[in-house]
Amino acid sequence: MTKPNININSIMTALKAKEADASRILQSRDAIIIEKSADELDEIEGAVAREIAIRNLDRESGLLREIRSALRRIDAGTFGMCLHCEEEISLRRLEAVPWARLCLQCQEAADRGDYRVLETEQVRLAEAA
Ligand SMILES: [Zn+2]
Repeated sequence: MTKPNININSIMTALKAKEADASRILQSRDAIIIEKSADELDEIEGAVAREIAIRNLDRESGLLREIRSALRRIDAGTFGMCLHCEEEISLRRLEAVPWARLCLQCQEAADRGDYRVLETEQVRLAEAA
């Protein structure tokens, strides 16, 4: 159940806005056009630009998955709960990163590659899917 101090509506609005943004960016993937150029320098620049565009798309599609998963957790009533330790994620963290799945401590452990955190997180994500 969501705590009264979390404004779920404003978080949902933020998530939906972010979702729309990411979808729009992903739909512009046609922007990656391979232009053949006789000029070698242009080709290198084109390759760099494509590389950046592909990386952006990767990031946005990852973000989109995070956002949709957060929206599912809102539906399920588990939003705001850390997927690893089941403690509440701080309001400040949720306001900054509304799709956060882990509390700060668990996130730091996950960033260090702590497999116990990563494992439960993946299991819970699969359950919620
Ligand atoms: Zn935690």
